[in-house]
Amino acid sequence: MADPVLIFQDVTRKFVVGAEEVTALANASCVIHAGDRIAVMGPSGSGKSTLMALIAQLDMPSSGAISWPKFPPAESVRPKYIGLSFQSPSLIAALTAVENVEVPLLVLELGSKAREKAFEMLKVFGLEHLADRLPEELSGGQAQRIAMARALVTSPALILADEPTGQLDQETGHLVMRKLKEISDTTGAALLIATHDPIIAAEMNTVWHMRYGALDTSNRIRNAL
Ligand code: ADP
Ligand code: MG
Repeated sequence: MADPVLIFQDVTRKFVVGAEEVTALANASCVIHAGDRIAVMGPSGSGKSTLMALIAQLDMPSSGAISWPKFPPAESVRPKYIGLSFQSPSLIAALTAVENVEVPLLVLELGSKAREKAFEMLKVFGLEHLADRLPEELSGGQAQRIAMARALVTSPALILADEPTGQLDQETGHLVMRKLKEISDTTGAALLIATHDPIIAAEMNTVWHMRYGALDTSNRIRNAL
């Protein structure tokens, strides 16, 4: 078995909304290994995005322990090791497509060939003709793929994609999945994808199911919807 990249032990995330308390993730325990390909399935509101945000260090658990055994303890794991594409593409409005893809490289001070690398990643997704467009000049599906290119440009060890094909037609969705798999094959990255789509989930090696904040990692194949 490959090395664990990420370990969750009894992780809970609660939100307080007015007088109400919502348990978005309840006592979740899981391990992600290098090279894993995992689909997280579950109905809307079941906690998929909450799980992703915790993995990506964009959020803190209410209780439980999260560790990244492969990464240096003193460093923030993101953005060096984790590539994240959000459910709604969050491109920077004032930057062109290629500049958006370049941002993580500049943040990590890998700037010398940043433009070239960003352009190469756009090409992987067949988006080079959109390089100079501003986000407002892109369709939702184009923006989603640009955001995916941005998530992958640093060759992360863990790729998180929250409903990556949600805004895409079937053919483009399959192209994105193929590219994600090719990239994870080449770099050995682990891939975790939240999806409603059983066809996409079937392309992963493992399926986790979520319901009411409970994470089931037993990889049972069943209709989660
Ligand atoms: P999914 O991605 O599966 O649709 P989410 O993780 O977005 O589910 O949400 C899980 C639950 O947590 C939902 O009930 C949602 O309303 C709640 N939730 C998520 N984020 C917040 C937040 N920032 N504040 C309050 N409640 C939240
Ligand atoms: Mg979600």
